[in-house]
Amino acid sequence: MNYIYLDASATTPPHIDVINKLKDIQIECWGNPSSIHREGVIAREILERSRMSIANKLKAPSDEIFFTSGATESNYLALKGVSNNLDKGRIVITSVEHPSINLIANQLLSDGWDVKYWPVDLHGIIDLDLLEEMLSPPTKLVSIIWGQSEIGSIQPINLIGMECKKRNIIFHTDATQVLPSGLIDWSNLKVDMLSASAHKLQGPKGIGLLMLRKGIKDLLTNNPLYGFKNGSIRSGTESVPLIAGFSTAIDLLNEYIEVNDKQTLFPVNNVSKMTSLLKRNLVKNKQLTFIGPHRDRLPNNLSFLCHTESMLPIKGREIVRLLSKHGVCISSGSACSSSSQGPNPILVAINVDKPLQESGLRITIGPWISNDDINSVSNIINESLQSFELKKQ
Ligand code: PMP
Repeated sequence: MNYIYLDASATTPPHIDVINKLKDIQIECWGNPSSIHREGVIAREILERSRMSIANKLKAPSDEIFFTSGATESNYLALKGVSNNLDKGRIVITSVEHPSINLIANQLLSDGWDVKYWPVDLHGIIDLDLLEEMLSPPTKLVSIIWGQSEIGSIQPINLIGMECKKRNIIFHTDATQVLPSGLIDWSNLKVDMLSASAHKLQGPKGIGLLMLRKGIKDLLTNNPLYGFKNGSIRSGTESVPLIAGFSTAIDLLNEYIEVNDKQTLFPVNNVSKMTSLLKRNLVKNKQLTFIGPHRDRLPNNLSFLCHTESMLPIKGREIVRLLSKHGVCISSGSACSSSSQGPNPILVAINVDKPLQESGLRITIGPWISNDDINSVSNIINESLQSFELKKQ
């Protein structure tokens, strides 16, 4: 069976050019980039060229680009690092963060920090009326997810960044879900630290990005092996193949986006058109309720609540299993929490009625999907939901 994969927010299929790049570098440039002989110099050159290429695409100086094992580690190094070097105060995060940020916030709480959760409205956007309250002393650190992976909401990070700057608050954003569809311009971003990950944009797994403004890097001494590698926030031998693969994935993304309008963060492209088409098909279904914002939304993301026509809840996990049997891969929420049962914390945060808090369905699209796939998926989802309607009657 040919599977149709619509779970891009969990991970994406590596692009063939990325796979070829990994293979070539493994064969030809396997040296340790810290060695000063020929093999090391070749590896270092590939690494630094990749860094420069990524920096160039994201309009950043290359010495503000750091590689990690993924966005989870970037988030950890950023928030734990900065908090270790500040007097204890308050960290503000939103109520719709990725689980890795919640975990770090809990650790900071046990370290003696105060943690405040910035509530969101029914569409998952932070309530700006609370800005003064959230950013007043003793707030010293703010971390806001730029694009929410489950309900697609986009937060006004430049506005928050400007307000943080006025108050000398360090500001981090988790841009993991924005980078695959967005034109991130670090030179115009009011952010001190930014996390992202390669495997969300058809790059390899195990490689992430942490962008740090000058001066901030010196605060990140929290890695237990910090200083083992001179000038690095992270110890160990760099993975040149993964870094080069990441750079190739960003090149491909850029080519894909470049054919379109470069003025907006999310230019209209085939992925956003297919997402709109699928939305038009699915909103007609009386067993689905569209959730999250209609505007200010990740352009590849659709999310729904599933129920019968008379609003009896259908568990998202059950639909996901049934759809998988019919060749469609989608998810009931974030991959990082999809193994846990119970109410989905993001649906709780946006005030979904209790009985429907396990009924979320998330569809996230990537460039490998075709218009034909979209039509097949609409039919398969509609038929699968209908079978639940019949079961519950
Ligand atoms: N942040 C967000 C918003 C994510 O969606 C994810 C991946 N699900 C992560 C962080 C973690 O990324 P990684 O798998 O690279 O650690």
